[in-house]
Amino acid sequence: MKTVKPHNRRRELCTRDASRRSTVSYPVQWHGDDSGSGPVGQTACDCVERLDMRAPRYTSYPTADRFVEAFGPEDHARYLAARALQPAVPLSLYVHIPFCSALCYYCACNKKITQDYAKAERYIEHLISELSMVDSLLSGDRRLLQLHFGGGTPTYLKSVDLQRLMNAITERFSLTSAGEYSMEIDPRTVDEEKMNVLREAGFNRLSLGVQDFDVDVQAAINRVQPASLVASVLDTGRQLGFESTNFDLIHGLPRQTLAGFARTVEEVIAMRPDRIALYNYAHLPSRFKAQRLINPQDMPSPELKQDIFCLANDLLDSAGYDYIGMDHFALPEDGLANARRTGRLHRNFQGYSTQPDCDLVAIGASSISRIGSCYSQNLKGLNEYGDRVSQNILPTQRGVELSRDDILRRAVIMAIMCQGEIDKSTFEIGYLIDFDQYFEEELQALQPLVESGYVQLEERCVRVTALGRRKALRMVGSQFDRYLQQHQSRSRFSTIL
Ligand code: SF4
Repeated sequence: MKTVKPHNRRRELCTRDASRRSTVSYPVQWHGDDSGSGPVGQTACDCVERLDMRAPRYTSYPTADRFVEAFGPEDHARYLAARALQPAVPLSLYVHIPFCSALCYYCACNKKITQDYAKAERYIEHLISELSMVDSLLSGDRRLLQLHFGGGTPTYLKSVDLQRLMNAITERFSLTSAGEYSMEIDPRTVDEEKMNVLREAGFNRLSLGVQDFDVDVQAAINRVQPASLVASVLDTGRQLGFESTNFDLIHGLPRQTLAGFARTVEEVIAMRPDRIALYNYAHLPSRFKAQRLINPQDMPSPELKQDIFCLANDLLDSAGYDYIGMDHFALPEDGLANARRTGRLHRNFQGYSTQPDCDLVAIGASSISRIGSCYSQNLKGLNEYGDRVSQNILPTQRGVELSRDDILRRAVIMAIMCQGEIDKSTFEIGYLIDFDQYFEEELQALQPLVESGYVQLEERCVRVTALGRRKALRMVGSQFDRYLQQHQSRSRFSTIL
């Protein structure tokens, strides 16, 4: 296989640069969960030098740790019904399938490891009941611009049950030719027949959990899946006409080495997936029980982890992948890269998206909906979730109604996360504010990031630099997070950049 040479321009971005180091104070590491349904490792933090690791990922604002139990099923029902008042807002649907047949030791997801398929069958009944309840309450446009099955392992389900679920969905919602319909795939759980069922059911995108091809790493995380298996699933997907494939990689896993992960990234590049997510593994065994099965001696040092991350960035850059933001890359011809170039990038619970802001209906245990100006999250436990649905009550556990200030700050943070800049005039016209006055403290708080070369403050624009986009995008966004900045119990510490 051809060796990809590191790209010098990006070396400059990634290599720790002593000339940029300065002593800066920031809030202590953030340990909230701002997605509830996102990929593994994406909701926690660790101690590597990237400032980004210390701020939320902002798949929502306010982040999920700000949701309150005073928001219940009646509130969620009210927002579902109110959709008719804003019929132009498109719709997105998320379905959470929590089952897996084996435990990956790095896992931080809300999942259930079981060989007892009857549990999944009961869960599907509950999902369809929840869907019916939502269906009876929801008003407004029923066209789905986005559909995503996440988990857990959605492909844990048998083909017949996946088909049944999709029938229940398409009886109530309509898929469109421009829609993005994706499923998270564990390559060990699909064959051509199951993939054909998915394609026939309307899925047009695949997201494969790859993590690392190195056999030592795979043994250490209890997830053995040869590169040939992933290649075969990818080939089958392409033959069946899936339009786009994403690979999830994770850096910072036990027994990872520079050379080993470089081989993985080169093998991935040779397969040419349309999109790549390069997640940071957060080792928090005190919080996630599965991670206690990892031998601490096998963990890479923070320095090695950072070097692995930088090398992977270099390899992807050199191979022609466009950097999208956070930990995401895409081929230049992919819709995500195009959306990034043309300022049409959006962000939701599934990460970056080409689709405009949708109302998101989420079903299943722990899933989070976003309807109008509210977020609501379902009960996390499978039994609690099932019991509530069986009583014909929406399984909402908590949520939040956004204030005008929340809505404004959400838009500002999303502009940073997606476009890497804030055009002050847009917010002044849209929200009738004087931007510099309204965000006087926040602009002052950005000063250390300006001095570090991550942000430029211009007369009518706050611009994140190329360096800042790689290293401090979340940290820039977090300066506009009222809850994080006001958190009285937070500690402060000094970091050498
Ligand atoms: S497949 Fe592995 S990482 Fe994914 S949810 Fe299941 S146990 Fe966790």
